[in-house]
This record gives sequence, C-alpha cells and structure tokens, in this order.
Amino acid sequence: MDFSLDINNLRTFENIIILLVLFLLLLRIYLLIKEKKKLQKLIEKKVKIFQKAFDISEDAILILSDKNKVIYANKSMIKLLDLDEGYMLEPLKYMPKVKVKKDWLELDKFIKKMHKATDDKMQSFPQSSLLPNNKNSKNIPINLYIDSTSMGSEYDLWCNIISMHDLSKEKERLTALHRHKLTHLPNQLQALQDLNKFYSQIHLDDKKLALVLVNIDNFSQLRAIIGYEQANIILIKFAKYLEQLSKRSSFYVYHTFHNNFLLIIPSVESSDEIIMLSKEIQKQLVSFYKMGGVALHLTASIGISIYPESGSTLNLFDNAYKALAEAEKNGHGRINIYKTDTLEHDYDELALYNGIHEAIDKNEFEVYYQPIIEVGTEDIVAAEALIRWRHPQYGFIPPDVFVPIMEKTGFIVELGRYVLEEVLKQQKRWELFKFKQIEISINMSLLEIETEGFVENVAKQLAYHQINPELIKFEITEGSAMSSEEQVDTQLLALKKLGVAISLDDFGTGYTSFSYLKKFPADILKIDKTLVDYILVNQEDQRIVKAMIELGHNLGMKIVVEGIENKRMVQIVSSYGCDYMQGYYFSKPLPVFEFQKLLRR
Ligand code: C2E
Ligand code: MG
Ligand code: MG
Repeated sequence: MDFSLDINNLRTFENIIILLVLFLLLLRIYLLIKEKKKLQKLIEKKVKIFQKAFDISEDAILILSDKNKVIYANKSMIKLLDLDEGYMLEPLKYMPKVKVKKDWLELDKFIKKMHKATDDKMQSFPQSSLLPNNKNSKNIPINLYIDSTSMGSEYDLWCNIISMHDLSKEKERLTALHRHKLTHLPNQLQALQDLNKFYSQIHLDDKKLALVLVNIDNFSQLRAIIGYEQANIILIKFAKYLEQLSKRSSFYVYHTFHNNFLLIIPSVESSDEIIMLSKEIQKQLVSFYKMGGVALHLTASIGISIYPESGSTLNLFDNAYKALAEAEKNGHGRINIYKTDTLEHDYDELALYNGIHEAIDKNEFEVYYQPIIEVGTEDIVAAEALIRWRHPQYGFIPPDVFVPIMEKTGFIVELGRYVLEEVLKQQKRWELFKFKQIEISINMSLLEIETEGFVENVAKQLAYHQINPELIKFEITEGSAMSSEEQVDTQLLALKKLGVAISLDDFGTGYTSFSYLKKFPADILKIDKTLVDYILVNQEDQRIVKAMIELGHNLGMKIVVEGIENKRMVQIVSSYGCDYMQGYYFSKPLPVFEFQKLLRR
C-alpha cells in the first residue's frame, strides 16, 4: 500500500475543506454587509419619509439634546425660530423664550423646571407664548408640548422633543369673528359674550348696568345721497368718536350692525347719567360730518335699558331694542328708556309650577348668604340663608314669587330639605377650611313644620353632617307662627331640644298678642324691614321700633333689625339698643363664594 499518497490525498482534502469554510465565511460576511446596507437604505428612506411628514406639518417640531444641540428641526420650526443654516448638531444660537402662565423663561430652563416639578415626561401647555428670537420682539401665542426620551450616548443621553402649535392665525380668525369688518370695533357676538360676564357681576355691587343702543337716523337715505364710501367714512368716524368717549367715561362700545352701535355701561348710579351721555352723543353727531364745508345734520335715536329697572338680565338686550324701536317710532333724535310693563313680572304660574319639580335636579337653585352684624363691633356673627332660583325662561325669580307657589303645591317641603342640606354641607366645608364659624338661619314655612317627620329629618341631617346644632337657627314668620299656634309651638320646642335656635321673622307685620309672644319659644326677634323703611323721618315708626326692642329684651330675646340700608339707620337702631343688624348697608345676600370672602377678612 502506498502510504505517502494517502497522506497527500488527505492534505488536499483538508485544504479543500478549509477553502470551502473560508468561502462560506466570506459569503456570509458579504450577505451580512449587503443586508446591513439594505437596512440602512431602508432606514434612510424611512427617515426621509418621516422628515417629509414632519416638514409638511404646520406644527413646529424641534429635538434638542440635553446639551441643547439641535438634533432635528422641521421646516415649520426652522421658519418659526428663523434658524440659520448649519444649525444641525450645533447648540441653538438664541434660546427661544416661552411664557407659560405668567413668567418668561428660556426654553431649556423651562424644561428643566418642568422636569423638577413632575416625573411625567410628556407635558402640554396650552395657551402659552413664544419669543422665537431676539430679532423679532413680537410674541406668538402657541400651544406647547414637550416630551423627553433617552437617545443613547451618541446624542448625549437625553433629548427633548418640543412641538409648538402657532395660534396666531386662529387668534386672528377669532378676533375677526368678534370685530366689525368696517370699524374694527367689537361686534354683537362679542357684546353678547361680554354681557354674560357683566351679568354675573351685577349682584356684587349696588350699581346698575345700562345698555344704550345708538342708531344713526335715516342712514339708508343718507347713503343713497352721499354714496357708499362717504357713508362708510361717517361710520368709521363715529366709531372712533365713541371709542374715545368710552375711554373717558368708562363704558364699552360695540358696532352691532350697519348704523347701529351699542354701549354697555357696567356701573351706573342713576338713569340721569345715561340720559346726559346720550344727549352728549346726539349733540356731537349734529355737527359731526361736513361735506364741501357744509355740516350734514345727523341725528341718532337712542334706546336704553337699565338693570334692574328695565327687567331681568335675560331680556335686557331685547328691551334696549324695544326702547330703540319706540324712540324711532316717535320721530328722529329721541331717547327712550325701557320701562318694564306688568307683563315682565307676570310669571306664568303654570310654567313655574312645572319647572319647580325639575329645578333641584337641574341645579337651578342656589343658596345665597346675607351677613348679620353685631351692633358695636360690626362683626359678622351670623348669616341668613336665602334661596335663589335661576329660571331658564325668566332668569332670576325672587323668592317672594316662587315660595308662595311652592307652599301651595307642597314642594316647599322638598326645597326646605334642600336648603338645610346645602347649609349643613357648607358649614362643614367652612369648618374644614377653618373659616370663622357662624350661625346660619334657615327660613322655614308653616307647611314644613306641619309636615310629619320635619324635626326628625333635622335631627338626622345634623347627625349625618356632624354639625353642632348651635350653628343652625330656624326662622319662622310671625304670620305663620300665629296661624297655627299650638302645633307650631310643639314642633318648635322639639326643634329647640335638638339644640338649634328659633327666630321670629318679619316681626311687626302681624298682630301677635303680648300673651302669645310671652310664651313663644323664640330666641330671636327679627324686626321687619317695613318698620324701619321710614325710620329716619317717621317718629311714629321710631317709637314702635324702640318699644319692640325693649319688649323683646324684656322677654329675654335678642333683636335683629332687618333692612338696614344706610349709616344713619345703623346709628338710630343702635341707639335703641338692638343687638344685631342685617341689610344692604352691610351686604346684599351673596353667593357662597363671595360671602366667604367677607368671613376671611
Ligand atoms: P326674609 O326671611 O325676611 O328675608 C329677608 C329679605 O329681605 C331677603 O329678601 C333680603 O334680600 C331682603 N333684604 C335684606 N336686607 C335688605 C335691605 O337692606 N333692603 C332691602 N330692600 N331688602 C333687604 P329675599 O332674599 O328676596 O327673600 C324674601 C323672602 O323669601 C324671605 O324674607 C323669606 O321669607 C323667603 N325665603 C327666602 N329664602 C327662603 C327659603 O329658603 N325658604 C323659605 N321657606 N322661604 C325663603
Ligand atoms: Mg328670614
Ligand atoms: Mg324677614
């Protein structure tokens, strides 16, 4: 056997195997590289597509490394920040400033602050502002979104993705929507929005609110004579004049339509003021516009509505138009104030009756609070809870109108429960938030007292809400108390056993006998407003009030005098020795939010 040949053969075979393995290895490497290139191309393509997508987006997008280098900016962002070429992978030359809520901050500082405040990486800040660069001092309203993500060490560790939605155009569009095209004054749409704000303020001070509609007379005929352009010039000039006047006299002016302008005057002492202002406008208008050196004799008709005289806020705007129509009917250059006819107060009892059942569920009732003041210190020591109903059709309806209907229909029992619950919840809130704790009086009707389970319900609610009974008082009117003496007495005594106090309300309007008053279980006597209305001038009333206070004191009661409207009334009733006072001089009944501001003082 040839042994050496065998060995040679073996070597050749080995070499072939090695070559084959090498070849396979190279093939594998080649395929891998090819695959990687393909993948890279694919990624590049995808990135391009994403870039294109971001570039057509109107939202501006910026990716900043945590060292403030620009990793990416789409076209909108390049335009917004006015970035120079070569910005990529360089730090921003000017760090844009943003204002979120109230302070301006550089974007990077803002992001740091945001990260400190929250662990949430994704945050949105609607209605912010941007100062994009130092060339342009105008700031831009934006919605700002910020997200942060880890990018790996090639790009510093973290990067921030910032998206900005430019709101300028929307703002412009909205402003245009709320402005008159010709004069650029706010238009009727804006007026209606503003009115809602003014209405919600009305109860806060004793001032009135007036709407004045000014209509340039005969405008269509005038336009036919002087032409479209000249007529427009008149409107523009008149708008400017009203605008200037509005700044001097603090009112708001709107160009409602065509030749019609509206003034909203939120703080009026008397209607005389409005008449004077209207006359001044009319006077100016007469010599307002000259054509070829000759003044055109322009006149305006003016319709006015004043809250509260001209009706509820729901109808105030319409009533100004009614007043204007009336003024125009009577000739040119007239001024007319809308007076409520009886119709306005003529509520449709059936509509009220039907509405009552749903009013609680629809949240149309609200409890207001009127402070009761201690004579001498003039501190708020108590308050009366007074119900308010915002009716969807009639607007605000006074309790004097709907309480009697509720008494007739029996619904007053449910309303009474509602008021009690609201007051108890409110007392608890005040306790928790460390407001000064004061007694709250709740009015109750005869029907409530006569309803079985009334006292039990009060006891149950007091326990449920864990309110000290000494913080609750019930008021019953003199009239109710007398009409059903015995039953009322038993119930009142049961109430008193719970620890709540009783006031005899509207005292002086009925004919309570001395013997009845003597055994009446009240702790407090509230002298009715009608007895003090003329106390400054009527000596008879002075004597009566003085005697009542003494009588009440002799029977061991404390005295509240209602309807105190001015300082002289305070002086006179204080000199008679009454204990507490209640009235507009100190404050009108207020919604809880306003009332508690008084408690904090
Ligand atoms: P009231 O219990 O005698 O309440 C006092 C009324 O006098 C309140 O009228 C209050 O706003 C008003 N008033 C207070 N100070 C002055 C002032 O200085 N000048 C003038 N002109 N008025 C002043 P309001 O809120 O219209 O309530 C009228 C009546 O409706 C109340 O008379 C009460 O009898 C009844 N009422 C109110 N809320 C409720 C309630 O929740 N349940 C029941 N059953 N009756 C209620
Ligand atoms: Mg009362
Ligand atoms: Mg009263």
